[in-house]
Amino acid sequence: MSESFAAPAAAPGAPTPEQWSDWRWHMRNRVTNLDKLREWVKVSPAEEEAIAGTAGKYRWSVTPYYASLMDPEDPNCPIRLQAVPSHGELLEFPDADVDPVGDMFYRKTNRIVHKYPDRVIMLITESCPVYCRHCTRKFHTTDVEGTYFRDNEGGDFEEDFRYIREHPEIRDVLLTGGDPLSYRDEKLETIISGLRAIPSVEIIRIGSRFPVLLPQRITDEFCEMLSRYHPVWLNTHFNHSREITPEAAAAVDRLLRHGVPVGNQTVLLKGINDDVDTMRKLMTELLRIRVRPYYLYHCDNVTGVSHFMTSIEKGWEIMEGLQGHMTGFGVPQYVLTTRIGKIPVSLPYHEVVEDGLALRNYRGQTMTVTGEHYRVSKPPSD
Ligand SMILES: *Cc1c(COP(=O)(O)O)cnc(C)c1O
Ligand code: SF4
Repeated sequence: MSESFAAPAAAPGAPTPEQWSDWRWHMRNRVTNLDKLREWVKVSPAEEEAIAGTAGKYRWSVTPYYASLMDPEDPNCPIRLQAVPSHGELLEFPDADVDPVGDMFYRKTNRIVHKYPDRVIMLITESCPVYCRHCTRKFHTTDVEGTYFRDNEGGDFEEDFRYIREHPEIRDVLLTGGDPLSYRDEKLETIISGLRAIPSVEIIRIGSRFPVLLPQRITDEFCEMLSRYHPVWLNTHFNHSREITPEAAAAVDRLLRHGVPVGNQTVLLKGINDDVDTMRKLMTELLRIRVRPYYLYHCDNVTGVSHFMTSIEKGWEIMEGLQGHMTGFGVPQYVLTTRIGKIPVSLPYHEVVEDGLALRNYRGQTMTVTGEHYRVSKPPSD
């Protein structure tokens, strides 16, 4: 049995601890309309308008667990901004695109996106427990008209498995979506065991936001199943320290106890986490629950998401505020996702000079190292 937690006192319908601990109960009782949202928060006129304005265009659904993290009084609460529709989703921005990173261009089968030689992503579903307003695959997951799938989601996986078998250079398969954990354990096990049966697949990775949006989904039984197919890694998506709850920490603990390393990918989002203090708190709190920060994504210029974008300078300011100021492995890599891959874009801490390197540290102190062990014949950009 997994640890159980009581519902917060304010939870509408007064769910029992058994219900609150049951991820299926949360999925069945998701907030999908104004009346249900009103049971959790004082809905602002702007939110009400945006819910009406985005209806029929973008899906909207919030698990009671994630709704319980919302500040009832503050419409600018970081949880509300991620989970409740806003007017910004309907604005038009220059160069915004439904797929700026080219997933569809690199899609080789219904589910396989093959952009790097040695690894692929497998888009196994379009469903998610919460439709994050900033989703980078908003067209695939949230747009009611959209999907990356040529056919329907339900088709078998034969073509996808065959593609991986026929490309033995693929040693790393990342299950993503949507959220793969939207599937039942039995179905996930069929997929994971199918991948494990391909000798060239060395590691299996899962990208899932369930530890943040509905940690109850990470049951002991699920973790036990994963542990039969090691090495399995999981990356999740915490964007704010307010998401790091006892439930989320317990879900991470269950994964770790079953040998699944847990990493985190944060998206830099305007008004949600675009300041040094918020980001430093998030990264240090992640370390406390033994989650390793992996990437900080610059927000992609995705249709319906662009209003969350910050400047690159803002990203630099944040990275400069993390690097050297905190535990080294608590500092994620700041990347831009592009058609040619993920590109690290942080400012360098060194510069090539005459006979070596000019260095600076996080406090602005500088020094130069020179001589045959530091001299570079040409700058790496040539
Ligand atoms: C992000 C991504 C990967 C995995 O990249 P890593 O940098 O190894 O985490 C693989 N394929 C595609 C298409 C991706 O977008
Ligand atoms: S859970 Fe992930 S895939 Fe699903 S809407 Fe949120 S960010 Fe997008």
